[in-house]
Amino acid sequence: MYKTFMSEFLNTEIKFLTGVGSKRAELLQNELNIFTFEDLLWYFPYRYVDRSKFYKIDELTSEIPYVQVKGRFIKFETIGENRARRLIAYFSDGSGVIELVFFQGIKWMKESLKINTEYIIFGKPSFFNGKINIIHPEIEELAKQEKKPGSALQPLYNTTEKLKNSFLNSRGMSKLLSNLILLIKAPISETLPEYLTANYKLLSLHESLINIHFPASVEILQSARYRLKFEELFFVQLKIQIQKKFRTEKQQGHIIEKKDSYNMQFWKNRPFDYTGAQIRVLKEIRKNMISGKQMSRLLQGDVGSGKTLVAIVSMLMVIDNGFQACLMVPTEILAIQHYNTITKYLQPFGLNVKLLTGSTKKKNRTILSEELENGTLNILIGTHAIIEDNVKFSNLGLAIIDEQHRFGVAQRKKIWDKNVIPPHILVMTATPIPRTLQMTVYGDLDVSVIDELPPGRQNICTKHYTDALRLRVFGEIKNEIKKGRQIYIVYPLIKESEKFDYKFLEDGVESILRAFPPPEYSMVVVHGKQKNENKEESMRQFVAGKADILIATTVIEVGVDVPNATMMIIESAERFGLSQLHQLRGRVGRGGEKSTCILMTAENISSEAKIRMQTMCESNDGFHIAEVDLQLRGPGDIEGTHQSGLPTEFKIANLAKDGQLIQFVKTIAEEILDKDLALEKPENILLIKKLKSMKKDDEHWENIG
Ligand code: ADP
Ligand code: MG
Repeated sequence: MYKTFMSEFLNTEIKFLTGVGSKRAELLQNELNIFTFEDLLWYFPYRYVDRSKFYKIDELTSEIPYVQVKGRFIKFETIGENRARRLIAYFSDGSGVIELVFFQGIKWMKESLKINTEYIIFGKPSFFNGKINIIHPEIEELAKQEKKPGSALQPLYNTTEKLKNSFLNSRGMSKLLSNLILLIKAPISETLPEYLTANYKLLSLHESLINIHFPASVEILQSARYRLKFEELFFVQLKIQIQKKFRTEKQQGHIIEKKDSYNMQFWKNRPFDYTGAQIRVLKEIRKNMISGKQMSRLLQGDVGSGKTLVAIVSMLMVIDNGFQACLMVPTEILAIQHYNTITKYLQPFGLNVKLLTGSTKKKNRTILSEELENGTLNILIGTHAIIEDNVKFSNLGLAIIDEQHRFGVAQRKKIWDKNVIPPHILVMTATPIPRTLQMTVYGDLDVSVIDELPPGRQNICTKHYTDALRLRVFGEIKNEIKKGRQIYIVYPLIKESEKFDYKFLEDGVESILRAFPPPEYSMVVVHGKQKNENKEESMRQFVAGKADILIATTVIEVGVDVPNATMMIIESAERFGLSQLHQLRGRVGRGGEKSTCILMTAENISSEAKIRMQTMCESNDGFHIAEVDLQLRGPGDIEGTHQSGLPTEFKIANLAKDGQLIQFVKTIAEEILDKDLALEKPENILLIKKLKSMKKDDEHWENIG
């Protein structure tokens, strides 16, 4: 009875809540995806402030996130014209005077705020023109202070400009939640089985949801947060582990036996000895592909660790068994480069290797399609073009995806569908993925790691220079060219953008030409807006050693391999994220020579950018860099987490901080599934119910394994 009542109640459209109405309802839907009472209840505060604490004005600094001050207005002043018009309210508490600044609602403020009445103001101090002020603080008359449910911990909610204009600022949201919680007359149904809540001493869902918004005490708030994080991470893990178990236990795969004809031939003609890590990873792949179960494997290896070799040998394994293989990469440049490397290596074997990209001519495409379908094409290398529906294989045994952060789950699914029995899938990434992220984002994949670089590699010496040292950089470039080496110069953008004052490729090309005039020096340019022929021609020249300098945008980020290039200059380096910087830097240090990377930035950069530069200068370890990146940016911003099918936007869990909990709930999920894979036992009925309700959020997750 109660249960159906509650579930209907929670499904009520948000517009029916006191204080909402249809206009605000529309805003809540569009801005925050809040459609129902339940959605609102799951819209959690991002932090809390202790409203029992009052600051003195003379102790305020811009470092304190939020402050509450008790005092009186002493004077109002309107200054500025038009859009710069603002009201300055001088507010004093005896210890000092602070300026409160209002750009909106000026008239209303002036009319309703009283001099010599005690108020409480609340907001974020900022530093402007040499003093501390607060822009648009919340203001409450002390005598009329509202009594709120819960303790003195006040929740703060993120909202948007549009919502704020509709009075749904943090405080407005809090008011809505208090309206909603007053209406909750029966317990909210539990989503976790009792054996979990009891075993792990979890607060009930009901208590947690109420206390997350209006904590009765700091202790209960902690329990509520823990319970909700547990819940969020646990169901994600449960889902991932179900998929993984089904795949590894049930999903049939091609049996790739140890036949070793091409594979052996390649070994005999090997261009270099495989590293220990390459051998180990190849064994893992072989073991997986011979098992009769489908392989879905993530291969992690830092830039330059030799993943291409692993790809080639794996492809030969399936070709030895009469299957076809494909290798998919994110950019055309990379596709061409892989094609060249692979055809070079496989030349003596008489294998049919072809390239397919967006610019493949129709005539060639027709031939290629025929060969693919009649099985005479052994290896197809290309870009996204490969996953188009009209590309049909006769018998695809293995699909390799290089630099996978550009490919999403949806694309993996398309590959999956290219055969009745799905091909084995090997996803290769040079962006090391922190463990927590890996467990969540790629938790459905098996993992192999190349943790060893080919012999003779030296660390890349990385330096951070500001623009003032440009001449010195030019000097260093000249020295390097004198030694017969080649240089990359990378720019973040092609054309000047209004928003950012960065060094631009076009300007760059001019000044580099001036400093390195032909014919003494030669340079080529590669960027995303170029015609493919020009791009390829430039790359070819650089690869062939005919150009000293390659000026590029980030199109060269992944995979490009020119061992003679020993210096990389990254312009406006503050504009790049850590993993991108690490990727870019990985273009040098590929031969035996000592390589250098110079990060150029403006004089004044943010403190976060400073940490990035420092991290790069101190470390060559991709895994370490990825960890710092995760800590700095949070998982949501890490490149590719969205496309790679991060199961849900986390509402409360934090992949950067909750590593231990993730590991913990993963183990719990595995234990449950070991006992009851189909979750058929009565005690697991709640789990099934919740999983079903999650499905509608992300249907494409099914089947991907
Ligand atoms: P990534 O893992 O970044 O894709 P690559 O496969 O492009 O790295 O390899 C980087 C460079 O290292 C290439 O020039 C490749 O020929 C070379 N290489 C790969 N494996 C070995 C090895 N075992 N010994 C020596 N050099 C190797
Ligand atoms: Mg590579």
